[in-house]
Amino acid sequence: MATIRFEALKEIFKRQALPIEYPSVKASDYFGINVFDQTKMKKYLSKEAFNSVIKSVEDGTGIDRKIADQVAAGMKEWAISRGATHYTHWFHPLTDATAEKHDAFFDMTPNGETFESFDGKLLAQQEPDASSFPSGGIRNTFEARGYTAWDPSSPAFVTGNTLCVPTVFVSYTGEALDYKTPLLKALNELDKAAVDVCQFYDKNVTKVISTLGWEQEYFLVDNALYQARPDLSLTKRTLMGHGASKDQQLDDHYFGSIKPRVSSYMMDLEIEAHKLGIPLKTRHNEVAPNQFECAPIFEEMNLAVDHNQLLMDIMQKVAIRHNLRVLFHEKPFAGINGSGKHNNWSMATNTGVNLLSPGKSPKKNMQFLTFLINTLKAVHDNTDILRASIMSAGNQHRLGANEAPPAIISAFIGKKLTQMLDELEVSVPDGKMSPEEKTALKLNVGKIPEILLDNTDRNRTSPFAFTGNRFEFRAVGSSENCASPMIVLNTIVANQLKEFKKEVEALIEKGLKRDEAIFQILRQYIVDSKKIRFEGNGYSKEWEEEAAKRGLTNIKEAVSSFAAFLEEKTVELFERNNVFSKREIEARYEVRIENYTKKIQIEARVLGDLAINHIVPTCVKYQTELIKNVQGLKELFDAKDFSKVAGERLELIKVISEHISLIKKQVNEMIEARKVANKIEDATKLATAYEQNVKPYLEKIRYSIDKLELIVDDEIWPLPKYRELLFN
Ligand code: ADP
Ligand code: MG
Repeated sequence: MATIRFEALKEIFKRQALPIEYPSVKASDYFGINVFDQTKMKKYLSKEAFNSVIKSVEDGTGIDRKIADQVAAGMKEWAISRGATHYTHWFHPLTDATAEKHDAFFDMTPNGETFESFDGKLLAQQEPDASSFPSGGIRNTFEARGYTAWDPSSPAFVTGNTLCVPTVFVSYTGEALDYKTPLLKALNELDKAAVDVCQFYDKNVTKVISTLGWEQEYFLVDNALYQARPDLSLTKRTLMGHGASKDQQLDDHYFGSIKPRVSSYMMDLEIEAHKLGIPLKTRHNEVAPNQFECAPIFEEMNLAVDHNQLLMDIMQKVAIRHNLRVLFHEKPFAGINGSGKHNNWSMATNTGVNLLSPGKSPKKNMQFLTFLINTLKAVHDNTDILRASIMSAGNQHRLGANEAPPAIISAFIGKKLTQMLDELEVSVPDGKMSPEEKTALKLNVGKIPEILLDNTDRNRTSPFAFTGNRFEFRAVGSSENCASPMIVLNTIVANQLKEFKKEVEALIEKGLKRDEAIFQILRQYIVDSKKIRFEGNGYSKEWEEEAAKRGLTNIKEAVSSFAAFLEEKTVELFERNNVFSKREIEARYEVRIENYTKKIQIEARVLGDLAINHIVPTCVKYQTELIKNVQGLKELFDAKDFSKVAGERLELIKVISEHISLIKKQVNEMIEARKVANKIEDATKLATAYEQNVKPYLEKIRYSIDKLELIVDDEIWPLPKYRELLFN
């Protein structure tokens, strides 16, 4: 009987690229067609309601019930015109996905008249009985109510036949149960802190937004092959599989020409994304076979985060149409590159200035240096919590290994800016400056735009790299909600800017001129944050050694890296900046810890099952064939010739036996380790037991299976192999 693998392979030989029906218009003609954006609001809302929504977006003010009714009515009318029959509050619980619960517009009066209803109350707030979302202990089942509340700063949209209203998700007692609530708070803090600092340079600045442009990496595999790999479909990564004879060593995939089947998928995806207002712009092959990347034009952060979450959902849905599956896991295949999600981050003012882009005047450049140096200082002071915000069972494979940015958080700024900071460090005197010193400094600062022009050096091994007009946080995992690291980044920078302002003002108070005070504090920060600046190869052994000497942390173990959440320093930071209460931050920790334990537990179960039920029986079957063959040879040959002709097969029979015994023994030990671990009540200790005592078996068992894959007859091997998954 044919294996599932061959059935799956037969299936994909029939597949061809799906023809795409191109809209007969340009992208700009249908861009945002399914979004209730300002243009549609103008059309469907009264002037009063429209202005009220805009004001709420700009100042974060509430919208009163009467206005909400008007907005709901307009939104409903528009959504129905786009084919919507249902509506949902759309939110980001603390899982890897988004959540929605659909209700029909359809309603009925007591005497049986039917109509479509959606009012301000339904728009503004809902109470999903969502007791099974992770809450990190915040919500006990007896107070299982949670609220979702409308976020007017991210526009509603229609997908399928459902109107989706972006919302926050909080507990009955007011604690955040999602990513959006703390993100909005962090953005608000950054806004206030950055505006205050901008006042040193430009009185017209009244609002600063944080900008995000994410680059999403992913793998595509054929759906039939995916279904034939229980490890892929249940854990989103391959728990076994010998490397293909050829993978990425020829560097022939990166930026290579895109295969028709994939490009047809990408085009379909782009059309869907553009209809939803997601400004996808870039697409290309990535380094590993069947690995790809897409990136949009950057946007205001809250919207960009929503768009990334929405896109990940759309990517899966469109993939199914093409008989493909998207893998967002950080390390779906051993031995080749994993996937990340680069977060390009900057800040922009209402006056149209990118605060991380040098300007034309010395004043603008001082402002640029201020934000650049404060960011470096913020990262320097908070490396552990930054790492904790992106660590997971999946991303651990990247951060802990010699691939992608390492678990050491360092920053790259390029040779020219390094020189610039070095000069500032030595040329700023203590106290008051002479006129000559001032002129020299200003001249120096004025040179920045020119030096950045030829600052084309890129460092792909740095986790936090300055790329000319933004920082790129590259260590983020491909399945992570961008909000997690961005909550931290915005909070630490907001905190740092507040600190900066205080320190500058203290010096001014002591009689220094403002510029002198600014230069002096910046000089101090340059010195203070120096040890995270690293321009070399972040993947190298030498850097690990150097970083250790500098006293930088390099925490590769997931569970101990999460401890940063609980440090007093972290709790104070988030409380001081009104982003998380102590209870909320503890809950984030709990959720990460629990999620980690569960992921390893599932991987261990799936691997045990596959090893014992798929791999061992297959190997026994093949071994029996060999034994029959050897017995036949024995009948044919005399003793002397027999050992000559059968020797290598006898050896093989032995090797197979050894691996089978080893697999069985290790699977049993792994089960035992789980049993011991499961008795532990303390969540941290439980996760540690899984990390230290269960996880190592995943590698050990896999080792034997991968060896067997090389020995056993290809015809009977049950699971699709790497070469099939990666080259179809
Ligand atoms: P690369 O692969 O060279 O890093 P990409 O073009 O793939 O670059 O992605 C760069 C991302 O950075 C894009 O999403 C882009 O919109 C974004 N970006 C550019 N400028 C800014 C900015 N000021 N703030 C945030 N993101 C930005
Ligand atoms: Mg990039």
